[in-house]
Amino acid sequence: MKVTEHIAQAKDTLISFEILPPLKGKSIESIYDHLDPLMAFKPAFINVTYHRSEHMFKKRSDGTFEKVEIRKRPGTVAICAAVMNHYNVDAVPHLICGGFSREETENALIDLNFLGVDNVLVLRGDAPKNEPSFEPEPHGHRYAEELLHQVVNMNNGMYLEEDLQGGVKTKFCIGVAGYPEKHFEAPNLATDMSYLKRKVENGADYIITQMFFDNQKFFDFVKKCREMGITVPIIPGLKPMTTRKQLTVLPRAFHVDIPNDLATEILKCKTDKDVELVGTEWLIQQSKELKEFGVPVLHYYTLGKPEVIRKVVEAVV
Ligand code: FAD
Repeated sequence: MKVTEHIAQAKDTLISFEILPPLKGKSIESIYDHLDPLMAFKPAFINVTYHRSEHMFKKRSDGTFEKVEIRKRPGTVAICAAVMNHYNVDAVPHLICGGFSREETENALIDLNFLGVDNVLVLRGDAPKNEPSFEPEPHGHRYAEELLHQVVNMNNGMYLEEDLQGGVKTKFCIGVAGYPEKHFEAPNLATDMSYLKRKVENGADYIITQMFFDNQKFFDFVKKCREMGITVPIIPGLKPMTTRKQLTVLPRAFHVDIPNDLATEILKCKTDKDVELVGTEWLIQQSKELKEFGVPVLHYYTLGKPEVIRKVVEAVV
């Protein structure tokens, strides 16, 4: 079922989770171990992130270096199929522009369609580590908007081969990313939001946001979206703070602010266990307020912390 159908049929705020594929070499059981404690909350859907390959330099025996390509977390499409099969829940694979040609994207979409996956979250992806800026693949997409076009075309039965007639029309429900605190490359929030509006005008069915720790930022973002005529559902992306290190890591990696009250409480903590307690309580309060505000879904980035998310959701539903 599509994410938008779940939202349309819901009588209360829905819950959804986001997981990462395990590191290469681990089994699918690690995904089930991660999700098992969360399935009692009957998530409407589960997102599975996509991770592009990275370039590494491997030392040869003669002392010179060889550039190799390594994908540390493969398996997004297969995990979606496994999760749908194992739990009878909808899966939302993330699809990125980075590292994909249009042909590879088309093949991935065909696989997803054959597997009965009804949803995709289309994203640009970031530059690979050690590379200064995002560059599309030859014959790839530069912006999420272009990838979105390709999915919309397939939903209209249009494939890359122009002479392919009567191609099956896929029915993907398409999500896109939004940034309450602005995407880090955008010159300002208004410009960033004008591109978000274009993604919606070109066929995005809903928006999932980057994580944020100050609900007011989300409320302001929703207000601005509505004023601009963006009417699709806006789903908040939520993550708990669990370590002191995240006070500097999260702003650097995700370009989000940590509110002063939260930072002050975390700085008082002696151990990361204490930080986890503070972060859990903060996320419970954030979730309750967002529920009260009327968000359609509370979407939790579980990121290796299913037990924290379990405590949060238990306190909120
Ligand atoms: P875009 O919408 O393409 O925007 C990128 C930048 O370009 C922005 O600054 C925007 O303002 C600007 N822009 C957009 N369109 C245009 C245009 N037409 N012309 C000029 N400028 C334009 N990354 C992964 O690698 N894998 C994942 O699984 C993943 N999951 C994510 C899930 C969520 C909910 C979020 C919020 C992010 C996720 N990311 C993931 C990270 C994401 O790929 C990065 O934030 C990336 O830098 C931007 O992706 P986007 O889809 O927002 O890009």
